[in-house]
Amino acid sequence: MSSNNVTRILVVGGGYVGMYTALRLQRKLKQELRQGTVEVIVVDPEPYMTYQPFLPEAAAGSISPRHVVVPLRRVLPQCQVVIGEVTAIDHTERRATITTLAAEETGNGAIEVAYDELVLAPGSVSRTLPVPGLADVGIGFKTVEEAIGLRNHVLAQLDIASSTRDPAVRDAALTFVFVGGGYAGVEALAELEDMARYAVRYYHNVQSEDMKWILVEATGRILPEVGPEMGRYAVRELRGRNIDVRLETRLESCEKRVAVLSDGSRFPTRTLVWTAGVKPHPILAATELPLNDHGHLKCTPALRVDGVEHAWSAGDAAAVPDLTAEPPAKPDEPRPLCAPNAQHALRQAKVLAENIAAVLRGDPTENYEHKYAGSVASLGLHKGVAHIYGRKLKGYPAWFMHRAYHLSRVPTFNRKARVLAEWTLAGLFKREIVSLGSLENPRAEFELAAGTGRHNEAI
Ligand SMILES: Cc1cc2nc3c(=O)[nH]c(=O)nc-3n(C[C@H](O)[C@H](O)[C@H](O)COP(=O)(O)OP(=O)(O)OC[C@H]3O[C@@H](n4cnc5c(N)ncnc54)[C@H](O)[C@@H]3O)c2cc1C
Repeated sequence: MSSNNVTRILVVGGGYVGMYTALRLQRKLKQELRQGTVEVIVVDPEPYMTYQPFLPEAAAGSISPRHVVVPLRRVLPQCQVVIGEVTAIDHTERRATITTLAAEETGNGAIEVAYDELVLAPGSVSRTLPVPGLADVGIGFKTVEEAIGLRNHVLAQLDIASSTRDPAVRDAALTFVFVGGGYAGVEALAELEDMARYAVRYYHNVQSEDMKWILVEATGRILPEVGPEMGRYAVRELRGRNIDVRLETRLESCEKRVAVLSDGSRFPTRTLVWTAGVKPHPILAATELPLNDHGHLKCTPALRVDGVEHAWSAGDAAAVPDLTAEPPAKPDEPRPLCAPNAQHALRQAKVLAENIAAVLRGDPTENYEHKYAGSVASLGLHKGVAHIYGRKLKGYPAWFMHRAYHLSRVPTFNRKARVLAEWTLAGLFKREIVSLGSLENPRAEFELAAGTGRHNEAI
């Protein structure tokens, strides 16, 4: 017990796994939470959970940014939500170090929190490679800030292209390179291209044929989540829209705003989006908990950290054996792992919470077992591809299924209603095509008035 006979459950991360685990714990341990014999603390640097599958639609402007996120305090009233970052975990002593917003501002140092049960769910970060120039110009696509930043950036490029007389600047502004053909990259590119093609009708001197959209994928296929047949369809659909899909091609460098590909081609560009996979969050390496060769926490099918008492994990950070996969041919080969996706993360979170509640009550735990149901992907407004529960769909039906599926999955009735209302309004009115990039620097106008801004320096 951490103190006063209270069992403290510390949840690191308020994403899919963290939020759904806490939600389930709230329900399963309602009485204990009310009596004060159990407390649940959820720590995340952001006060919201991001529904990542909606990020491409947020980038396209079909859903407003605040409807893609779920406020943790609102959905977890029985938990303590701490906005901060866990920077170290000493599981032998069962203590975590948390840098909170206040600690950063006052410089008073991090706080230490003792716990009894640890749920480690920090998810993943973009997997980058040592490509020259990538760290300087690459744009990720994992957070709502990145999605909205990218939307503003793309629209700003149209403004740049429209207002320059320099053909080289115009060409680079109208060239958009995406690296990585998983659902994040393909959906982001497809939605943004669709939005940009719509937007250029309002520019007197930019045509949709002037834009170059390029998808670079190292393997021979895209969207492995929807299977080979639907992946090939997606390539045909994108190429049919004049999108340059380059398979078995890698980004070699992107210095001085020129993307150089392994097939020898060079594209001057101001937009390089990197969605070539994810790796487990680096905080895991700062613990002494067991990791596999790829840096994931080794977990048992019951979602305990392997061989460690009182530590649990799931989602993108965890290596969870997939009990539904065919057993390996050789007995010494390890069983395949669950893929890092929302489908597993959400279901694992429920089992994880049930198991913690069971352990606290002295009941047996259960194993996580879910057969991957397939996937749906949007390729822009009214276009999509799906392979789910054995059914293959493309075009409008797949797009409709994508929307229906994610509407049913996005947490809280409140969010569902707001997203549905937005889609309905978007169907009735014209799309929004304005870039609000200046929101990233809200003090610029006041600084200018006060004579301290960059504009004044220039003058
Ligand atoms: C653009 C995009 C589209 C996607 N589309 C789909 C889809 O269509 N279908 C699908 O199945 N999957 C999809 N995914 C994948 C899916 O979103 C992830 O697999 C899922 O979010 C994993 O859940 P998680 O809880 O492990 O991680 P996350 O949901 O990423 O949550 C991790 C949380 O931990 C927090 N955190 C990180 N470090 C710390 C720290 N040190 N201290 C405290 N908190 C910390 C983060 O802020 C974050 O809130 C998509 C992903 C992206 C990026």
